[in-house]
Amino acid sequence: MDNYIKQEKKALVMGGGIAGLLTARVLSEQYDDILVIERDERPEKPEARAGSPQSFHLHQVLPRGEMILERFFPGFSDDLLALGAFPIQEPVQWINRYGTMMMPAQGVFYSRALLEWVLRQRVQALPNVRFLYHQEVTSLETSLDRTRITGVHIRQRGQIERQETLMADLIVVASGRSSKLPQWLTALGYKLPEDERLISAIGYSTRYYKAPEQKKGQVPLIVIENDHTKGSSAGGVLKSIEGDTWAVCLSSIAGQYPSTSAEGFEEGLTRLINPAIAEVLRDAEPLTEPRGFRIPECIRHHYEQMENWPAGLLVLGDAFCYFDPVYGQGMTVAAIEAEALAGCLSEQPGAPQAGFERIALQRMQDAIYPAWWLSTLEDLRWSGVTHSGPEPLKHIAFLHKYFDLSLKRQTQQFEKQQQTGAFNPLFMNYMLMTALIVSPRDVINVHMLNLLLDEVPEERGTILADLFQGYDQQNIEAVLDEVVPAFSFHYDEQAVSSPEEEVLQS
Ligand SMILES: Cc1cc2nc3c(=O)[nH]c(=O)nc-3n(C[C@H](O)[C@H](O)[C@H](O)COP(=O)(O)OP(=O)(O)OC[C@H]3O[C@@H](n4cnc5c(N)ncnc54)[C@H](O)[C@@H]3O)c2cc1C
Repeated sequence: MDNYIKQEKKALVMGGGIAGLLTARVLSEQYDDILVIERDERPEKPEARAGSPQSFHLHQVLPRGEMILERFFPGFSDDLLALGAFPIQEPVQWINRYGTMMMPAQGVFYSRALLEWVLRQRVQALPNVRFLYHQEVTSLETSLDRTRITGVHIRQRGQIERQETLMADLIVVASGRSSKLPQWLTALGYKLPEDERLISAIGYSTRYYKAPEQKKGQVPLIVIENDHTKGSSAGGVLKSIEGDTWAVCLSSIAGQYPSTSAEGFEEGLTRLINPAIAEVLRDAEPLTEPRGFRIPECIRHHYEQMENWPAGLLVLGDAFCYFDPVYGQGMTVAAIEAEALAGCLSEQPGAPQAGFERIALQRMQDAIYPAWWLSTLEDLRWSGVTHSGPEPLKHIAFLHKYFDLSLKRQTQQFEKQQQTGAFNPLFMNYMLMTALIVSPRDVINVHMLNLLLDEVPEERGTILADLFQGYDQQNIEAVLDEVVPAFSFHYDEQAVSSPEEEVLQS
Protein backbone atom coordinates (compact mmCIF):
# COMPACT_ATOMS: atom_id res chain seq x y z
CA MET A 1 0.00 0.00 0.00
CA ASP A 2 2.93 2.37 0.77
CA ASN A 3 4.30 1.59 -2.63
CA TYR A 4 1.02 2.61 -4.09
CA ILE A 5 1.27 6.15 -2.71
CA LYS A 6 4.61 6.74 -4.48
CA GLN A 7 3.41 5.91 -8.01
CA GLU A 8 2.20 8.24 -10.78
CA LYS A 9 -1.28 8.88 -12.18
CA LYS A 10 -3.22 6.70 -9.87
CA ALA A 11 -6.87 5.78 -9.80
CA LEU A 12 -8.95 4.07 -7.14
CA VAL A 13 -12.06 2.13 -8.02
CA MET A 14 -14.48 1.53 -5.19
CA GLY A 15 -16.22 -1.82 -5.70
CA GLY A 16 -15.11 -4.87 -7.67
CA GLY A 17 -18.50 -5.77 -9.17
CA ILE A 18 -19.42 -5.50 -12.84
CA ALA A 19 -19.14 -1.70 -13.02
CA GLY A 20 -15.89 -1.65 -11.04
CA LEU A 21 -14.29 -4.29 -13.27
CA LEU A 22 -15.33 -2.45 -16.43
CA THR A 23 -14.03 0.82 -15.01
CA ALA A 24 -10.67 -0.71 -14.12
CA ARG A 25 -10.40 -2.07 -17.66
CA VAL A 26 -11.10 1.38 -19.13
CA LEU A 27 -8.74 3.21 -16.76
CA SER A 28 -5.94 0.73 -17.46
CA GLU A 29 -5.39 2.46 -20.80
CA GLN A 30 -4.77 5.90 -19.28
CA TYR A 31 -3.63 5.43 -15.68
CA ASP A 32 -0.35 3.99 -14.43
CA ASP A 33 -1.78 2.32 -11.38
CA ILE A 34 -5.36 1.32 -10.67
CA LEU A 35 -6.41 -0.12 -7.36
CA VAL A 36 -9.81 -1.81 -7.05
CA ILE A 37 -11.02 -1.82 -3.45
CA GLU A 38 -13.61 -4.50 -2.74
CA ARG A 39 -15.19 -5.19 0.63
CA ASP A 40 -15.75 -8.91 -0.10
CA GLU A 41 -13.04 -11.54 0.19
CA ARG A 42 -11.27 -12.50 -3.05
CA PRO A 43 -13.59 -15.06 -4.68
CA GLU A 44 -12.00 -18.48 -5.06
CA LYS A 45 -14.49 -19.71 -7.65
CA PRO A 46 -17.50 -18.42 -9.60
CA GLU A 47 -20.22 -18.05 -6.99
CA ALA A 48 -22.69 -15.48 -5.66
CA ARG A 49 -21.03 -13.03 -3.25
CA ALA A 50 -22.37 -11.36 -0.12
CA GLY A 51 -21.41 -7.92 -1.49
CA SER A 52 -23.69 -8.33 -4.48
CA PRO A 53 -26.55 -10.45 -3.13
CA GLN A 54 -28.46 -10.04 -6.39
CA SER A 55 -25.92 -12.31 -8.07
CA PHE A 56 -27.87 -15.38 -6.87
CA HIS A 57 -30.64 -14.26 -9.21
CA LEU A 58 -30.96 -14.73 -12.91
CA HIS A 59 -28.87 -12.21 -14.85
CA GLN A 60 -28.40 -11.65 -18.55
CA VAL A 61 -26.42 -9.00 -20.40
CA LEU A 62 -28.36 -7.37 -23.25
CA PRO A 63 -26.89 -7.64 -26.77
CA ARG A 64 -25.57 -4.04 -26.65
CA GLY A 65 -23.72 -4.86 -23.45
CA GLU A 66 -22.27 -8.06 -24.93
CA MET A 67 -20.93 -6.07 -27.87
CA ILE A 68 -19.12 -3.74 -25.47
CA LEU A 69 -17.79 -6.63 -23.38
CA GLU A 70 -16.46 -8.22 -26.55
CA ARG A 71 -14.64 -5.03 -27.40
CA PHE A 72 -13.14 -4.62 -23.92
CA PHE A 73 -12.43 -8.32 -23.44
CA PRO A 74 -12.07 -9.94 -26.88
CA GLY A 75 -13.09 -13.59 -26.76
CA PHE A 76 -14.82 -13.35 -23.38
CA SER A 77 -17.58 -15.69 -24.66
CA ASP A 78 -14.94 -18.31 -25.39
CA ASP A 79 -13.70 -17.97 -21.81
CA LEU A 80 -17.26 -18.51 -20.62
CA LEU A 81 -17.66 -21.56 -22.86
CA ALA A 82 -14.39 -23.01 -21.63
CA LEU A 83 -15.78 -22.79 -18.10
CA GLY A 84 -18.95 -24.64 -19.06
CA ALA A 85 -21.32 -21.85 -20.18
CA PHE A 86 -24.32 -23.04 -22.17
CA PRO A 87 -23.89 -22.86 -25.97
CA ILE A 88 -27.19 -21.72 -27.51
CA GLN A 89 -28.20 -24.01 -30.36
CA GLU A 90 -31.99 -23.95 -30.23
CA PRO A 91 -34.41 -21.03 -30.64
CA VAL A 92 -35.30 -19.00 -27.59
CA GLN A 93 -38.96 -18.67 -26.66
CA TRP A 94 -40.48 -15.29 -25.89
CA ILE A 95 -44.08 -15.35 -24.72
CA ASN A 96 -46.12 -12.20 -24.28
CA ARG A 97 -49.79 -11.34 -24.10
CA TYR A 98 -50.05 -11.40 -27.90
CA GLY A 99 -48.41 -14.73 -28.61
CA THR A 100 -45.12 -16.60 -28.78
CA MET A 101 -41.97 -15.69 -30.64
CA MET A 102 -39.53 -18.52 -31.33
CA MET A 103 -36.34 -16.68 -32.17
CA PRO A 104 -33.29 -18.28 -33.73
CA ALA A 105 -30.35 -17.52 -31.49
CA GLN A 106 -26.66 -18.11 -31.03
CA GLY A 107 -24.11 -17.28 -28.37
CA VAL A 108 -23.76 -18.42 -24.78
CA PHE A 109 -25.77 -18.29 -21.58
CA TYR A 110 -24.13 -18.10 -18.18
CA SER A 111 -24.77 -17.16 -14.58
CA ARG A 112 -23.94 -13.74 -13.22
CA ALA A 113 -21.27 -15.35 -11.02
CA LEU A 114 -19.54 -16.95 -14.00
CA LEU A 115 -19.62 -13.72 -16.00
CA GLU A 116 -18.13 -11.74 -13.13
CA TRP A 117 -15.48 -14.43 -12.61
CA VAL A 118 -14.41 -14.27 -16.29
CA LEU A 119 -14.29 -10.46 -16.30
CA ARG A 120 -12.31 -10.46 -13.05
CA GLN A 121 -9.75 -12.92 -14.46
CA ARG A 122 -9.26 -10.64 -17.44
CA VAL A 123 -8.92 -7.50 -15.31
CA GLN A 124 -6.61 -9.20 -12.81
CA ALA A 125 -4.31 -10.05 -15.70
CA LEU A 126 -3.82 -6.36 -16.55
CA PRO A 127 -0.34 -5.37 -15.34
CA ASN A 128 -1.36 -1.98 -13.92
CA VAL A 129 -4.50 -3.10 -12.06
CA ARG A 130 -4.35 -4.35 -8.48
CA PHE A 131 -7.08 -5.54 -6.15
CA LEU A 132 -7.45 -4.93 -2.47
CA TYR A 133 -10.00 -7.37 -1.05
CA HIS A 134 -11.84 -7.40 2.25
CA GLN A 135 -11.40 -3.66 2.62
CA GLU A 136 -14.28 -1.28 2.87
CA VAL A 137 -14.25 2.38 1.84
CA THR A 138 -15.76 4.36 4.70
CA SER A 139 -15.52 7.97 3.47
CA LEU A 140 -13.79 10.37 1.11
CA GLU A 141 -10.65 12.43 1.67
CA THR A 142 -10.74 15.96 0.21
CA SER A 143 -8.52 18.95 -0.45
CA LEU A 144 -8.68 21.64 2.25
CA ASP A 145 -11.25 23.68 0.32
CA ARG A 146 -13.24 20.49 -0.35
CA THR A 147 -13.38 21.11 -4.10
CA ARG A 148 -11.36 17.99 -4.96
CA ILE A 149 -11.60 14.41 -3.76
CA THR A 150 -8.05 13.32 -3.13
CA GLY A 151 -8.45 9.88 -1.61
CA VAL A 152 -10.52 7.46 0.42
CA HIS A 153 -10.50 6.12 3.93
CA ILE A 154 -10.60 2.37 4.17
CA ARG A 155 -10.74 -0.21 6.89
CA GLN A 156 -10.57 -3.95 6.94
CA ARG A 157 -14.03 -5.46 6.93
CA GLY A 158 -15.19 -5.98 10.49
CA GLN A 159 -12.44 -3.78 12.04
CA ILE A 160 -13.98 -0.63 13.42
CA GLU A 161 -10.99 1.27 14.79
CA ARG A 162 -8.09 1.04 12.34
CA GLN A 163 -8.50 3.21 9.27
CA GLU A 164 -6.08 3.94 6.47
CA THR A 165 -6.06 6.66 3.84
CA LEU A 166 -5.26 5.99 0.20
CA MET A 167 -4.62 8.91 -2.15
CA ALA A 168 -5.21 9.01 -5.92
CA ASP A 169 -5.76 11.38 -8.84
CA LEU A 170 -9.14 9.87 -9.66
CA ILE A 171 -11.62 8.05 -7.42
CA VAL A 172 -14.44 6.13 -9.11
CA VAL A 173 -17.41 5.06 -7.03
CA ALA A 174 -18.73 1.74 -8.38
CA SER A 175 -20.05 0.39 -5.11
CA GLY A 176 -23.50 -0.53 -6.35
CA ARG A 177 -26.94 0.29 -5.08
CA SER A 178 -25.87 0.39 -1.43
CA SER A 179 -23.34 3.13 -2.21
CA LYS A 180 -22.96 5.75 0.50
CA LEU A 181 -21.98 8.46 -1.96
CA PRO A 182 -25.04 10.67 -1.26
CA GLN A 183 -24.32 10.60 2.49
CA TRP A 184 -20.58 11.25 1.98
CA LEU A 185 -21.19 14.23 -0.32
CA THR A 186 -23.81 15.64 2.02
CA ALA A 187 -21.43 15.29 4.98
CA LEU A 188 -18.85 17.29 3.00
CA GLY A 189 -21.37 20.11 2.59
CA TYR A 190 -22.53 19.43 -0.98
CA LYS A 191 -26.16 20.01 -1.80
CA LEU A 192 -27.50 17.15 -3.92
CA PRO A 193 -29.99 17.58 -6.77
CA GLU A 194 -33.36 15.87 -6.49
CA ASP A 195 -33.23 12.16 -7.41
CA GLU A 196 -35.74 10.43 -9.59
CA ARG A 197 -37.47 7.65 -7.73
CA LEU A 198 -39.60 4.88 -9.11
CA ILE A 199 -41.51 3.28 -6.26
CA SER A 200 -42.35 -0.03 -7.83
CA ALA A 201 -42.08 -2.66 -5.04
CA ILE A 202 -40.53 -5.33 -7.24
CA GLY A 203 -40.07 -8.89 -6.01
CA TYR A 204 -37.92 -11.73 -7.32
CA SER A 205 -37.79 -15.39 -6.44
CA THR A 206 -35.17 -17.65 -8.02
CA ARG A 207 -34.68 -21.40 -7.91
CA TYR A 208 -32.20 -23.69 -9.65
CA TYR A 209 -32.97 -27.05 -11.27
CA LYS A 210 -30.94 -29.81 -12.87
CA ALA A 211 -31.85 -30.13 -16.55
CA PRO A 212 -33.08 -33.71 -17.10
CA GLU A 213 -30.94 -35.85 -19.44
CA GLN A 214 -33.49 -35.87 -22.28
CA LYS A 215 -33.83 -32.07 -22.26
CA LYS A 216 -30.16 -31.12 -21.91
CA GLY A 217 -29.23 -28.46 -24.46
CA GLN A 218 -32.83 -28.27 -25.72
CA VAL A 219 -34.22 -25.31 -23.79
CA PRO A 220 -31.96 -22.26 -23.82
CA LEU A 221 -34.42 -19.63 -22.67
CA ILE A 222 -38.13 -19.18 -22.03
CA VAL A 223 -39.36 -15.71 -21.15
CA ILE A 224 -42.97 -15.27 -20.06
CA GLU A 225 -44.01 -11.66 -19.66
CA ASN A 226 -46.68 -10.34 -17.34
CA ASP A 227 -49.98 -9.00 -18.70
CA HIS A 228 -51.18 -5.67 -17.40
CA THR A 229 -54.44 -5.98 -19.35
CA LYS A 230 -55.43 -8.92 -17.12
CA GLY A 231 -53.72 -7.70 -13.95
CA SER A 232 -51.26 -10.64 -14.07
CA SER A 233 -48.23 -8.95 -12.60
CA ALA A 234 -46.00 -12.04 -12.44
CA GLY A 235 -43.52 -12.92 -15.15
CA GLY A 236 -41.14 -15.85 -15.34
CA VAL A 237 -37.86 -16.77 -16.98
CA LEU A 238 -36.09 -20.09 -17.40
CA LYS A 239 -32.50 -19.83 -18.59
CA SER A 240 -29.94 -22.55 -19.17
CA ILE A 241 -26.60 -21.81 -17.55
CA GLU A 242 -23.37 -23.68 -16.90
CA GLY A 243 -23.47 -27.13 -15.32
CA ASP A 244 -26.65 -28.33 -17.13
CA THR A 245 -28.55 -26.11 -14.76
CA TRP A 246 -31.73 -24.18 -15.29
CA ALA A 247 -32.03 -20.87 -13.45
CA VAL A 248 -35.72 -20.12 -13.02
CA CYS A 249 -37.08 -16.87 -11.69
CA LEU A 250 -40.45 -15.40 -10.95
CA SER A 251 -40.73 -11.65 -10.73
CA SER A 252 -43.56 -9.32 -9.94
CA ILE A 253 -44.33 -5.69 -9.31
CA ALA A 254 -46.46 -3.37 -7.21
CA GLY A 255 -45.98 -5.34 -4.01
CA GLN A 256 -47.24 -8.66 -5.43
CA TYR A 257 -44.13 -10.55 -4.30
CA PRO A 258 -43.59 -14.07 -5.69
CA SER A 259 -43.48 -16.89 -3.17
CA THR A 260 -40.19 -18.12 -1.74
CA SER A 261 -41.63 -21.44 -0.53
CA ALA A 262 -41.03 -24.45 -2.81
CA GLU A 263 -44.76 -25.15 -3.22
CA GLY A 264 -45.66 -21.50 -3.70
CA PHE A 265 -42.92 -21.10 -6.31
CA GLU A 266 -44.08 -24.12 -8.33
CA GLU A 267 -47.65 -22.94 -8.10
CA GLY A 268 -46.64 -19.43 -9.16
CA LEU A 269 -45.15 -20.89 -12.34
CA THR A 270 -48.46 -22.51 -13.24
CA ARG A 271 -50.26 -19.17 -12.83
CA LEU A 272 -48.18 -17.29 -15.40
CA ILE A 273 -49.94 -16.26 -18.62
CA ASN A 274 -48.53 -19.41 -20.25
CA PRO A 275 -47.61 -22.77 -18.64
CA ALA A 276 -44.47 -23.32 -20.77
CA ILE A 277 -41.97 -23.09 -17.89
CA ALA A 278 -44.06 -25.20 -15.52
CA GLU A 279 -44.37 -27.87 -18.21
CA VAL A 280 -40.65 -27.95 -19.01
CA LEU A 281 -39.86 -28.26 -15.31
CA ARG A 282 -42.23 -31.20 -14.72
CA ASP A 283 -39.47 -33.83 -14.55
CA ALA A 284 -36.66 -31.55 -13.39
CA GLU A 285 -34.95 -31.99 -10.03
CA PRO A 286 -34.70 -28.82 -7.92
CA LEU A 287 -31.15 -28.05 -6.81
CA THR A 288 -31.99 -25.25 -4.37
CA GLU A 289 -34.88 -23.80 -2.49
CA PRO A 290 -36.30 -20.56 -3.97
CA ARG A 291 -34.64 -17.41 -2.68
CA GLY A 292 -36.28 -13.99 -2.74
CA PHE A 293 -35.11 -10.44 -3.38
CA ARG A 294 -37.14 -7.28 -2.92
CA ILE A 295 -36.52 -3.93 -4.54
CA PRO A 296 -38.75 -1.26 -2.99
CA GLU A 297 -37.60 1.50 -5.33
CA CYS A 298 -35.32 2.28 -8.23
CA ILE A 299 -33.23 5.45 -8.09
CA ARG A 300 -31.68 7.66 -10.75
CA HIS A 301 -29.28 10.19 -9.25
CA HIS A 302 -28.63 13.45 -11.05
CA TYR A 303 -25.03 14.13 -10.03
CA GLU A 304 -24.34 15.60 -13.48
CA GLN A 305 -26.46 18.60 -12.47
CA MET A 306 -24.10 19.60 -9.65
CA GLU A 307 -22.18 22.63 -10.84
CA ASN A 308 -19.80 22.26 -7.90
CA TRP A 309 -19.26 18.51 -8.37
CA PRO A 310 -15.82 17.85 -6.85
CA ALA A 311 -12.84 17.28 -9.11
CA GLY A 312 -11.22 13.86 -9.00
CA LEU A 313 -14.47 11.97 -8.42
CA LEU A 314 -16.68 9.88 -10.73
CA VAL A 315 -19.52 7.44 -10.18
CA LEU A 316 -21.02 4.75 -12.35
CA GLY A 317 -23.07 1.56 -12.38
CA ASP A 318 -25.85 1.05 -9.85
CA ALA A 319 -24.32 3.77 -7.66
CA PHE A 320 -25.40 6.26 -10.34
CA CYS A 321 -28.70 4.68 -11.42
CA TYR A 322 -30.41 1.58 -10.13
CA PHE A 323 -32.97 0.08 -12.57
CA ASP A 324 -35.90 -2.29 -12.31
CA PRO A 325 -33.95 -5.52 -12.93
CA VAL A 326 -36.75 -7.20 -14.89
CA TYR A 327 -35.59 -5.50 -18.08
CA GLY A 328 -32.01 -6.71 -17.63
CA GLN A 329 -30.52 -3.26 -18.22
CA GLY A 330 -28.15 -2.67 -15.26
CA MET A 331 -24.99 -4.40 -16.47
CA THR A 332 -25.45 -3.20 -20.05
CA VAL A 333 -25.87 0.41 -18.93
CA ALA A 334 -22.77 0.03 -16.75
CA ALA A 335 -20.93 -1.14 -19.89
CA ILE A 336 -22.23 1.84 -21.91
CA GLU A 337 -21.15 4.18 -19.11
CA ALA A 338 -17.69 2.60 -19.08
CA GLU A 339 -17.52 3.08 -22.83
CA ALA A 340 -18.54 6.73 -22.39
CA LEU A 341 -15.79 7.15 -19.80
CA ALA A 342 -13.28 5.60 -22.20
CA GLY A 343 -14.37 8.13 -24.83
CA CYS A 344 -13.92 11.07 -22.42
CA LEU A 345 -10.49 9.84 -21.32
CA SER A 346 -9.28 9.39 -24.86
CA GLU A 347 -10.35 12.96 -25.70
CA GLN A 348 -8.18 14.25 -22.86
CA PRO A 349 -5.06 12.10 -22.74
CA GLY A 350 -2.57 13.07 -20.05
CA ALA A 351 -4.08 14.92 -17.11
CA PRO A 352 -7.82 15.51 -17.57
CA GLN A 353 -8.69 19.20 -17.71
CA ALA A 354 -10.96 21.14 -15.38
CA GLY A 355 -14.57 20.13 -15.88
CA PHE A 356 -13.65 16.65 -17.16
CA GLU A 357 -15.70 14.94 -14.45
CA ARG A 358 -18.90 16.80 -15.27
CA ILE A 359 -18.52 16.03 -18.97
CA ALA A 360 -18.06 12.35 -18.13
CA LEU A 361 -21.04 12.35 -15.75
CA GLN A 362 -23.23 13.98 -18.40
CA ARG A 363 -22.22 11.40 -21.03
CA MET A 364 -22.99 8.61 -18.60
CA GLN A 365 -26.32 10.17 -17.77
CA ASP A 366 -27.06 10.30 -21.51
CA ALA A 367 -26.47 6.54 -21.53
CA ILE A 368 -28.75 6.04 -18.53
CA TYR A 369 -31.68 8.07 -19.84
CA PRO A 370 -33.14 5.81 -22.59
CA ALA A 371 -32.94 2.71 -20.39
CA TRP A 372 -34.43 4.50 -17.39
CA TRP A 373 -37.20 6.00 -19.53
CA LEU A 374 -38.13 2.63 -21.04
CA SER A 375 -38.27 0.72 -17.76
CA THR A 376 -40.00 3.52 -15.87
CA LEU A 377 -42.62 3.87 -18.56
CA GLU A 378 -43.29 0.14 -18.55
CA ASP A 379 -43.54 -0.05 -14.74
CA LEU A 380 -45.99 2.83 -14.68
CA ARG A 381 -48.60 0.55 -16.24
CA TRP A 382 -49.20 -0.85 -12.76
CA SER A 383 -51.43 0.80 -10.23
CA GLY A 384 -49.50 1.70 -7.09
CA VAL A 385 -46.25 2.34 -9.00
CA THR A 386 -45.22 6.00 -8.81
CA HIS A 387 -42.49 8.13 -10.28
CA SER A 388 -41.15 11.29 -8.68
CA GLY A 389 -38.39 13.66 -9.63
CA PRO A 390 -37.59 16.98 -11.21
CA GLU A 391 -39.32 16.13 -14.54
CA PRO A 392 -42.52 14.09 -14.82
CA LEU A 393 -42.76 11.55 -17.63
CA LYS A 394 -45.00 12.93 -20.35
CA HIS A 395 -47.68 11.36 -22.60
CA ILE A 396 -47.67 8.08 -20.74
CA ALA A 397 -51.04 6.92 -22.09
CA PHE A 398 -49.94 7.57 -25.68
CA LEU A 399 -46.63 5.77 -25.18
CA HIS A 400 -48.24 2.77 -23.52
CA LYS A 401 -50.64 2.44 -26.41
CA TYR A 402 -47.86 2.85 -28.97
CA PHE A 403 -45.74 0.13 -27.38
CA ASP A 404 -48.75 -2.17 -27.04
CA LEU A 405 -49.45 -1.83 -30.74
CA SER A 406 -45.77 -2.26 -31.65
CA LEU A 407 -45.38 -5.38 -29.56
CA LYS A 408 -48.59 -6.84 -30.95
CA ARG A 409 -47.50 -6.14 -34.50
CA GLN A 410 -44.04 -7.59 -33.93
CA THR A 411 -45.39 -10.74 -32.30
CA GLN A 412 -47.85 -11.27 -35.13
CA GLN A 413 -45.07 -10.74 -37.66
CA PHE A 414 -43.01 -13.40 -35.97
CA GLU A 415 -45.86 -15.86 -35.88
CA LYS A 416 -46.64 -15.14 -39.55
CA GLN A 417 -43.02 -15.63 -40.47
CA GLN A 418 -43.07 -19.06 -38.91
CA GLN A 419 -46.06 -20.01 -41.07
CA THR A 420 -45.31 -18.22 -44.36
CA GLY A 421 -41.70 -17.11 -44.24
CA ALA A 422 -42.80 -13.47 -44.81
CA PHE A 423 -41.29 -11.04 -42.35
CA ASN A 424 -41.14 -7.27 -42.10
CA PRO A 425 -37.86 -6.31 -40.42
CA LEU A 426 -39.29 -2.88 -39.57
CA PHE A 427 -40.94 -4.41 -36.55
CA MET A 428 -37.72 -5.96 -35.36
CA ASN A 429 -36.88 -2.47 -34.15
CA TYR A 430 -39.03 -2.90 -31.04
CA MET A 431 -36.84 -5.83 -29.97
CA LEU A 432 -33.65 -3.93 -30.80
CA MET A 433 -34.90 -1.04 -28.67
CA THR A 434 -35.32 -3.27 -25.61
CA ALA A 435 -31.76 -4.49 -26.30
CA LEU A 436 -30.66 -0.80 -26.10
CA ILE A 437 -29.34 -0.98 -29.67
CA VAL A 438 -32.00 1.12 -31.38
CA SER A 439 -33.15 4.31 -29.67
CA PRO A 440 -36.79 4.77 -28.62
CA ARG A 441 -37.02 7.73 -31.01
CA ASP A 442 -36.16 5.43 -33.92
CA VAL A 443 -39.03 3.15 -32.94
CA ILE A 444 -41.51 5.92 -32.27
CA ASN A 445 -41.84 7.91 -35.47
CA VAL A 446 -44.57 9.22 -37.72
CA HIS A 447 -44.22 6.48 -40.32
CA MET A 448 -44.63 3.73 -37.74
CA LEU A 449 -47.34 5.65 -35.91
CA ASN A 450 -49.44 5.82 -39.07
CA LEU A 451 -48.97 2.10 -39.71
CA LEU A 452 -49.99 1.29 -36.15
CA LEU A 453 -52.94 3.68 -36.12
CA ASP A 454 -54.24 2.06 -39.30
CA GLU A 455 -54.75 -1.07 -37.20
CA VAL A 456 -57.01 0.75 -34.73
CA PRO A 457 -58.75 3.50 -36.78
CA GLU A 458 -61.45 3.85 -34.13
CA GLU A 459 -58.82 4.81 -31.51
CA ARG A 460 -56.88 7.23 -33.70
CA GLY A 461 -58.48 10.37 -32.25
CA THR A 462 -57.98 9.39 -28.60
CA ILE A 463 -54.38 8.28 -29.11
CA LEU A 464 -53.38 11.49 -30.89
CA ALA A 465 -55.28 13.64 -28.39
CA ASP A 466 -53.05 12.32 -25.62
CA LEU A 467 -49.96 13.02 -27.68
CA PHE A 468 -50.98 16.61 -28.41
CA GLN A 469 -52.17 17.38 -24.90
CA GLY A 470 -50.65 20.70 -23.84
CA TYR A 471 -49.46 21.64 -27.35
CA ASP A 472 -50.95 24.31 -29.62
CA GLN A 473 -49.29 23.04 -32.78
CA GLN A 474 -50.12 19.54 -33.93
CA ASN A 475 -46.66 18.66 -35.23
CA ILE A 476 -46.10 15.04 -34.34
CA GLU A 477 -42.34 14.97 -35.02
CA ALA A 478 -41.78 18.07 -32.85
CA VAL A 479 -43.67 16.54 -29.93
CA LEU A 480 -41.86 13.22 -30.28
CA ASP A 481 -38.49 15.00 -30.45
CA GLU A 482 -39.27 16.62 -27.14
CA VAL A 483 -40.63 13.58 -25.35
CA VAL A 484 -38.83 10.48 -26.62
CA PRO A 485 -35.14 9.74 -25.92
CA ALA A 486 -32.88 9.50 -28.93
CA PHE A 487 -29.35 8.24 -29.35
CA SER A 488 -27.27 7.06 -32.22
CA PHE A 489 -25.37 3.85 -31.88
CA HIS A 490 -22.55 2.89 -34.22
CA TYR A 491 -21.33 -0.59 -33.67
CA ASP A 492 -17.86 -1.67 -34.61
CA GLU A 493 -18.11 -4.05 -37.56
CA GLN A 494 -14.70 -5.45 -36.71
CA ALA A 495 -15.97 -6.57 -33.35
CA VAL A 496 -19.47 -7.74 -34.14
CA SER A 497 -21.50 -8.98 -37.05
CA SER A 498 -24.72 -6.97 -37.17
CA PRO A 499 -27.18 -5.64 -34.62
CA GLU A 500 -29.95 -7.89 -35.90
CA GLU A 501 -27.81 -10.97 -35.51
CA GLU A 502 -26.54 -9.87 -32.14
CA VAL A 503 -29.98 -9.23 -30.70
CA LEU A 504 -30.95 -12.78 -31.46
CA GLN A 505 -28.07 -14.04 -29.42
CA SER A 506 -29.79 -13.67 -26.10
C1 LIG B 1 -32.69 -9.54 -8.67
C2 LIG B 1 -31.84 -8.80 -9.65
C3 LIG B 1 -31.70 -9.28 -10.94
C4 LIG B 1 -30.95 -8.57 -11.87
N1 LIG B 1 -30.86 -9.03 -13.16
C5 LIG B 1 -30.13 -8.34 -14.06
C6 LIG B 1 -30.01 -8.78 -15.40
O1 LIG B 1 -30.57 -9.79 -15.82
N2 LIG B 1 -29.25 -8.05 -16.25
C7 LIG B 1 -28.60 -6.91 -15.84
O2 LIG B 1 -27.92 -6.28 -16.64
N3 LIG B 1 -28.70 -6.47 -14.59
C8 LIG B 1 -29.43 -7.15 -13.69
N4 LIG B 1 -29.52 -6.70 -12.41
C9 LIG B 1 -28.80 -5.47 -12.05
C10 LIG B 1 -27.32 -5.77 -11.84
O3 LIG B 1 -27.17 -6.67 -10.77
C11 LIG B 1 -26.60 -4.45 -11.54
O4 LIG B 1 -26.97 -3.47 -12.45
C12 LIG B 1 -25.10 -4.62 -11.61
O5 LIG B 1 -24.66 -5.60 -10.74
C13 LIG B 1 -24.44 -3.28 -11.29
O6 LIG B 1 -23.09 -3.46 -11.08
P1 LIG B 1 -22.32 -2.57 -10.00
O7 LIG B 1 -20.91 -2.94 -10.15
O8 LIG B 1 -22.73 -1.17 -10.13
O9 LIG B 1 -22.87 -3.05 -8.59
P2 LIG B 1 -22.60 -4.44 -7.88
O10 LIG B 1 -22.49 -5.53 -8.88
O11 LIG B 1 -23.64 -4.54 -6.83
O12 LIG B 1 -21.17 -4.28 -7.22
C14 LIG B 1 -20.89 -3.36 -6.21
C15 LIG B 1 -19.63 -3.85 -5.49
O13 LIG B 1 -19.19 -2.85 -4.60
C16 LIG B 1 -18.78 -3.46 -3.38
N5 LIG B 1 -18.88 -2.43 -2.34
C17 LIG B 1 -20.00 -1.83 -1.88
N6 LIG B 1 -19.70 -0.89 -0.96
C18 LIG B 1 -18.35 -0.90 -0.83
C19 LIG B 1 -17.44 -0.15 -0.05
N7 LIG B 1 -17.86 0.79 0.80
N8 LIG B 1 -16.11 -0.42 -0.17
C20 LIG B 1 -15.66 -1.38 -1.02
N9 LIG B 1 -16.50 -2.12 -1.80
C21 LIG B 1 -17.82 -1.88 -1.71
C22 LIG B 1 -19.74 -4.62 -3.21
O14 LIG B 1 -19.21 -5.62 -2.35
C23 LIG B 1 -19.87 -5.10 -4.66
O15 LIG B 1 -18.90 -6.06 -4.98
C24 LIG B 1 -30.28 -7.38 -11.48
C25 LIG B 1 -30.42 -6.91 -10.17
C26 LIG B 1 -31.21 -7.60 -9.27
C27 LIG B 1 -31.38 -7.05 -7.90
